[in-house]
Parts: sequence; C-alpha cells; structure tokens
Amino acid sequence: MKKETGRRVKGIKIQTLNYSMIIAAAVLYMVLVYATIQVSLKYENLIDATENYISCEKDATLVREGSDYLTEQVRMYAVTMDPSYMEAYFEEKNVNRRRERALEELQEYKTGQEAYRYLQTALDKSNQLTETEIYAMKLISCSQGYDEASLPEEVRSVALRDEDRLLGPQEMVDEARIMVFDLEYQNAKELIMSNTDYFLNSITAWTRGKQSESVATLKTIMIQQRICIVVLFALNALNFILVIMLIVKPLQIYIDCIKEEKMLKITGAYEFKYLALTYNDIYEVNAANEVLLRHKAEHDPLTGVINRGAFEQMRELLKASSEPIAFMIIDVDKFKTVNDGYGHEIGDQILKKVAKQLTDSFRSGDYVARIGGDEFAVIMTSCPRRLQNLIYNKISMVNQILQKQENGLPGVSLSVGVAFSDKGFPEELYSQADRALYKVKENGRCDCGFYDGE
Ligand code: GH3
Ligand code: MG
Repeated sequence: MKKETGRRVKGIKIQTLNYSMIIAAAVLYMVLVYATIQVSLKYENLIDATENYISCEKDATLVREGSDYLTEQVRMYAVTMDPSYMEAYFEEKNVNRRRERALEELQEYKTGQEAYRYLQTALDKSNQLTETEIYAMKLISCSQGYDEASLPEEVRSVALRDEDRLLGPQEMVDEARIMVFDLEYQNAKELIMSNTDYFLNSITAWTRGKQSESVATLKTIMIQQRICIVVLFALNALNFILVIMLIVKPLQIYIDCIKEEKMLKITGAYEFKYLALTYNDIYEVNAANEVLLRHKAEHDPLTGVINRGAFEQMRELLKASSEPIAFMIIDVDKFKTVNDGYGHEIGDQILKKVAKQLTDSFRSGDYVARIGGDEFAVIMTSCPRRLQNLIYNKISMVNQILQKQENGLPGVSLSVGVAFSDKGFPEELYSQADRALYKVKENGRCDCGFYDGE
C-alpha cells in the first residue's frame, strides 16, 4: 500500500524545497561575504592610493623647498657676503638634506614607479647646480679674503679656474653673482621645477588611474551585492509563499475536512498529499466497513430486506411525519406445512422469493421489512387512502405469482392486512393492520383486507 500511495503522489517535497532553499541561501550569503571582503579591500586600495599621492606631493615639495632654500642661501651669500648664509647652505645640503630625504623616502616604498625617475632627475639637476653654487661661494670667499681654514671643506676643496684666479675682488664678486643669477642658472632651476611638475603630474595620473580602477571594481561589486540582496529577498518571499501554499493552507484545509468528517483534499506538498491519500484510503475502508456493519445491523440476512429492529426505528421516525401512510402486515399462509412438507431449506427459499416479489412490487421509497418468521411488513410513504385499490391489485398480482410452482418451489399465498394513516405512523396503526390481517386469515386467507375502523 505504501509503494502504491507513493506512486500516486506527485508534488514538491518539503524536504527537497528545504534543502534547495538552504543551499541557495548559503551560496548567496557566501557571495555576499566575498563581495563585502572585496569592498573593504578595494576601499583600502583607494585609501592607499590617496595616502601615496599625499606623501608623493610632500616629497616633491621637499625637493623643491630644498632646492629653493639652497638657491636662496647662495644668492644671499653672493649679495651680502655674510658667511652665515654659506653655513646655512651647507647645513641644508649636508645635515637637513631635504631633497635627498624626499628621494630616500620615496625610494623606500615606491620604487619602480614611473614617476620616480622625474624626481631623481630633478635631484640630479639640483646636485649639478650645487657645483656652480659652491664655485660661486668659493669666488665670494676668495674676494673677501676669508681664511681658508674657516671655509667648509667643500668650498675649500674647489680649485678656481686659472682665469678666475687672476680676477680682482669686485670682479670675483660680479662673476659669482652672474653665476647664480644668470639665465643659465635660471634655466637649470626651471628644469628642476619642471621635473618635479612632471613627477606630480605623473603621480596624479597614476593615483587617478588607481582610483578609477578601484571605483569601477567597487561599483561592480556593489551591483553584485545589490543583486544578491534582491535575490535573497525574492528567495525569502518565495519561501514564505511556498510555506503558505504547501504547508499552512493545506493544513487548514485538512483540519476543515476532518472537522466536517470528509475525505481530505489532495493538496499541498508531496508529504501532505501522501498523508492525505493514506488517510483517504483508511477513511474509505472504514466507511465501507461502517456501511457493511450498518447494513448487517439493519437487514435480515436471509431475505436482504429491513429487519425487525430497523423496522421499529423506522416506525419511530415516521411517528412525527406529516405524510399519509399505508401500512401492511403480510403473513405467508400455512407456512408450517410448507416447512413440514418440503423441508426448512425450501421454506427459506420461499421466504426469499416472497421478499423479492414484495420489493419488486412496491416503490423504491417504500419500506419492505421482515418482522417475524413468515411475517413481513410494508410501509408505503405518501400513500393516501384512495390508493387502496392499487394496493389490492399489487397484492393480487404478488399472490398470483407466488401461487405458481417454480424451480422446484411449491406455490404459496399471502394474507395481507392494511391500515391507513392520514399523518405519520400513529401507535395504533400496527394493531389496525394486524386486525385486518386477522380477518383475512379468518375469512380463508390469500387475500388483502383493509382496516375499516371496526
Ligand atoms: P397461518 O396461515 O395461520 O399463518 O399458518 P402458518 O403455518 O403459517 O402459521 P404461522 O404463521 O404461525 O407459522 C410460522 C412458521 O414459520 C413457523 C416456523 O416453523 C416457520 N418459520 C419461522 N421462521 C422461519 C425461517 O426462518 N425459515 C423457515 N423455513 N421457516 C420459518
Ligand atoms: Mg403464516
């Protein structure tokens, strides 16, 4: 039965649905977590690129400031000839080292960058310029006759060109001033500045590139996240709908069916359909058993017509009816002699035949019952007194048939007593019919008599 029920059931299994939902949700959550990690990574890249830009800008400024400071100090020395400017110059060049420090910092964590070489060029140019500057300082120092020993080592070690050594003090000063103020010096300075500009432009372009790359990836990931959230939401909504359709509603329907004592509607998920089919199978078997039991309890096993118990119940029910009723008691004539002459078996066959003839002769709405050994009763509902002749004719016909010998069964006759009621089945109706029957028996049997009030 289990296999057969399984074959008959088609539908979505709650188990399958459950597993699918769990797997789908797990995959979506994993994608969501992955996307979130990617977002934070890209965000960090963005921050790194910005920080990188800031530090590069700082480094470029340091190179510029360092170079400009050196220029300022050498020019001040050339104009004022105050050695403190020369000291400040070398303090910057050898101690503070802003330009070199910027490059070192940059090299430390930004090596390999295209932009780096621009700043390196700027530094190289600046270093080339320091030779000119130191030479100019040497000229100034010599023009002023400063003690060689008081000069910084780098100035001391510079050897003046032969033609410059022959110059007078003022000429030396003029020559030094030309060296640090002329167009050539200015051009070299501009070369340094333009290289730091190239560096900054290059860094800006690189940062922009990194930013737009990160932003594009961020956008894509955020779209993926949104899609995931929408799909998760849709999945949840679908889950709710399916739970309602496959579980909640069917349960409600099943409860209603059980309350109304009906078979279950085959609806909902596979498991519910399976349960409903099994329940219905059991329900059908029980209902059939109940019908069988009730039929057994209400019917005479020999003739199949209603038994005495069911007849009495019917009588009780019809007491309250407002319909006119014809009631008849039917007794087989001299049945004892049939039994004695032909045997009990034949007697039973005749009782069956009588029951069949009576059932066939009356309407399906009339009740034929066996109320004793060879005694039957018929209740005709909605049967007014004016149908007396019809009843008489029916009984005559039945008697004609029964009196004929047939299939080895001897002929028998019936005596019938009939009483009418205009409304329902009153208490006295039975005895009235019985009295009419008694009269028929007295008057020679095989007839139908009607109770006439006497
Ligand atoms: P009457 O014309 O006066 O009715 O005579 P009768 O011989 O039919 O007398 P009565 O109705 O009193 O007898 C009924 C007989 O029916 C008695 C009994 O032997 C017989 N009988 C009762 N139940 C059964 C049964 O189930 N099968 C058979 N074969 N006979 C039965
Ligand atoms: Mg009899």
